[in-house]
Amino acid sequence: MIDALKIIIDIQELDIKMIRLSRLKKQRLDELLQIDSLKNDLLEQKEVKEKEVESLDKKITELEAKISEKQAKLKNLESQQGSIKKVDEFNALTQEMTALERDKVALENEASNLFDQKTTESEILDKINESFTLSEKNSIDLKKEINHSIEKINEEGSELKAKRDDLVKTADREVLSIYERLLRNKRDRVIVPIENRTCSGCHIVLTIQHENVVRKGENLTFCEHCSRIHYYEKEQDIADDDKPTRKRRRRTARSS
Ligand SMILES: [Zn+2]
Repeated sequence: MIDALKIIIDIQELDIKMIRLSRLKKQRLDELLQIDSLKNDLLEQKEVKEKEVESLDKKITELEAKISEKQAKLKNLESQQGSIKKVDEFNALTQEMTALERDKVALENEASNLFDQKTTESEILDKINESFTLSEKNSIDLKKEINHSIEKINEEGSELKAKRDDLVKTADREVLSIYERLLRNKRDRVIVPIENRTCSGCHIVLTIQHENVVRKGENLTFCEHCSRIHYYEKEQDIADDDKPTRKRRRRTARSS
């Protein structure tokens, strides 16, 4: 493996941890947003319902005023009726009173319907208020827990960042900048070992020539399929060196 890669691989491990942390943090922040959006939904529902109840109240009050007006007129007509002597005048008055009475009953029915409607809406409003109070109570603990975990994530992130800053001081600038550009694109490990002549990033099988170049470790070698930087793990070298008989046999077989 080229030496410059060793430090960058250590940086990569820190970066992968930081990427995981930032994903976790985003999740937790989303949860906070969700809690707030639920609260706002309930508040909105509450406002709408309150306005409905208010407007029903207003309509009922208006109707009640109209009913009292009719009632007053009726009383007035009733008192006039006693002093009327002519039959046709009396009948006209009766007719007028009947019409007034009919109007009054219609208004009373309308008011009664509105009152029922108001009762239903008020009950819904009570339920909204109930769930609002409940969710407020629950969200306090939940938010506390989420904020606490975000704090821990931030702490862990600063620790990783400090370690990374330290490593960067000694890292090869050029390799680091290539690595960082790849990382920005992939948000995943971009310096990967070759395992069983396969890129452990994209899992595509590589050529023997490519493997040999990587094994020599003289230049940066990129996967031709996924552009990741390849390296060859020492253990594999050792593992291969442990089987000299097989290698030798293969070589003799080829030369013959
Ligand atoms: Zn690859």
